[in-house]
Amino acid sequence: MSELSELYQAVILDHNKKPRNFHKLENANRHAEGFNPLCGDQLNVYLQLEDDQVKEVSFEGSGCAISKASASMMTQAVKRKSKQEAETLFNEFHRMAMGELDVETEPNHLGKLTIFAGVRDFPARLKCATLSWHTMHAALNEQQKVSTE
Ligand code: ZN
Repeated sequence: MSELSELYQAVILDHNKKPRNFHKLENANRHAEGFNPLCGDQLNVYLQLEDDQVKEVSFEGSGCAISKASASMMTQAVKRKSKQEAETLFNEFHRMAMGELDVETEPNHLGKLTIFAGVRDFPARLKCATLSWHTMHAALNEQQKVSTE
């Protein structure tokens, strides 16, 4: 378990320092804004959907290290996925964070996103980790705004 938390910390630090796909997407055709009042995390997710495929994805905003790292990894995970695959990842990530999906025993598509499994023990951090996913899900479904409250 301590090994997992070391990996978790290293990944969070890396993505926080060098967030991937961290910019506004000029040719986005979907966009949503997410807010986590509990921590103050605020981010925008941009998608370029083409034939139900996530062609490009990016985010920008400000927030704690966990929200930023999670957003950075979310963009990597859903890029070039179909809308349905992105929704599946959203559902699995959300269920993992809520403690409803045991990634060690149940089949899933989360891959390295499973490093966030530990947030289920920290309710305050859970919303930081899931914010970008809720925002991506909102953008996919043409909602403009999402709040974790
Ligand atoms: Zn946060």
